[in-house]
Amino acid sequence: MQIEAAPTEARYEKPTGERRGLIMVNTGDGKGKSTAAFGLAVRAFGRTHHHGKKVKVFQFMKVPSARFGEHRAFETLGLEIEGLGDGFSWKSKDLDNSAELARSGWEKAKADIMSGEFFMVTLDEITYPLIYGWLPLQDVLDTLTARPTDCTVVLTGRRCPQEIIDIADTVTEMTLLKHAFKAGIPAQRGIED
Ligand code: ATP
Ligand code: MG
Repeated sequence: MQIEAAPTEARYEKPTGERRGLIMVNTGDGKGKSTAAFGLAVRAFGRTHHHGKKVKVFQFMKVPSARFGEHRAFETLGLEIEGLGDGFSWKSKDLDNSAELARSGWEKAKADIMSGEFFMVTLDEITYPLIYGWLPLQDVLDTLTARPTDCTVVLTGRRCPQEIIDIADTVTEMTLLKHAFKAGIPAQRGIED
């Protein structure tokens, strides 16, 4: 088997040395969209001495009291993570509440993105409130476009709207080859949560 060499700069556009924030998207049906975004947030947080700015992860589909592995680990590090959702269900009166929470959560995230204080803002699972029509896509696009140039915004979730992919700099699609769940293996603590 031939092992691919790591990509060399020569294969890419000549680097400009410009430092700027990116719009990054993790989408697709395979596992790893959120966890890759958390890894990126940890990496960015580890360079705080370099950029001197904050890193924040917003989770659109998790409740504020969630205590998953990432919340526990981030707490130890001092990396901010905030759930913006409510144990969402398909009952219509709950749905009005979920939509309202998503909108007020988005206003918080937007304020942070626009504040100029952040090196990275992660919008984990934002595609779901967008797909459900709870958040205005145009406002998200306008915010991404108008954000301070040094702020990186990371968006995750399946079925990312094409309009976001069009303006993004780095887009990764996690492809489902296998998932343990399909073989009847239930969610594992520390892997799924
Ligand atoms: P992770 O949070 O593990 O990085 P993800 O963000 O890519 O996963 P989501 O679409 O947000 O995946 O789904 C979250 C949950 O669903 C996780 O518990 C994950 O293990 C599980 N999951 C992800 N992909 C699949 C799949 N293809 N089939 C079944 N369950 C899945
Ligand atoms: Mg996810």
